[in-house]
Amino acid sequence: MRDDFSAKTKEILAKRVTHKCSNPDCKKPTIGPNSDPNKTVLIGVAAHITAASVGGPRYNADLSQEERADIDNAIWLCQNCSALIDKDTVKYTVPLLEKWKINAEDEAFKALQQRNYADTPKADQARPYAEAELIWTHGFKRPQGASQKTNEIYGDTPISIMQVIWYNHIAWNYELKIYNNSSVGLFNLKLHQHHSNSFFHLKEKLPKINNLPPYRDLSLRAETSRFFEGTGEEANKIMKPHFPDQLQGLRLLLEYTGEDRKTYFTELTLNGNTLTIVHLDEKPNDY
Ligand SMILES: [Zn+2]
Repeated sequence: MRDDFSAKTKEILAKRVTHKCSNPDCKKPTIGPNSDPNKTVLIGVAAHITAASVGGPRYNADLSQEERADIDNAIWLCQNCSALIDKDTVKYTVPLLEKWKINAEDEAFKALQQRNYADTPKADQARPYAEAELIWTHGFKRPQGASQKTNEIYGDTPISIMQVIWYNHIAWNYELKIYNNSSVGLFNLKLHQHHSNSFFHLKEKLPKINNLPPYRDLSLRAETSRFFEGTGEEANKIMKPHFPDQLQGLRLLLEYTGEDRKTYFTELTLNGNTLTIVHLDEKPNDY
């Protein structure tokens, strides 16, 4: 008798790899539209890693019937690959198939999490969409000499270096990644800072003449910094959050031209550690 997979097992197995063949050299989609608008074409197979019946490929007598029909013993493949793995069991071993399965599911999970610019559907593809991310790269603190306070507090009492109160220069460095999240090119990209920004310093400028092809990005280095009077340990605490309070509410405006020669805008506002993105057709009047 054959220990076949249930319909439910097959369905879950297929969905866990987004209906793609788990053979890393294939990855063929196994589902698509049928010419009948109410039907799909399914060419995927829930293949057995170890055979469903005695004498089958990679049969493992140690497994129970339940184990043989369990999802753990299944791998989603296209019809070709499912035939292939059963023809050559020397090459297509249990550990190899298990590896395929783990990697295929892992890839599906990563694709799910990933922000895939190219796959984000946009209703109106004539309009370019510039978007941006602010990525923290590194921080540093530089003591600029001991503060008067050290003396005021400790006087002539000998103290350790840990107790010294410094004038610290603390800085947070970022990469402002601007990308074109659309299938049309954009030109003459300009970046405006809102007048309320007081601590955000761009260390690089956009070239005067520039363009950003579809789904491409560019990065500008930026920084925020402050002085802090305190011990080294206190300064470390201040430095710790990657997006300090003084940067919250940061407002930037991207201005750019589309292939249609129209001017478009994207407003960016820092909220916690992410830039909130709002696409606009007109320049906001407070810029
Ligand atoms: Zn395949």
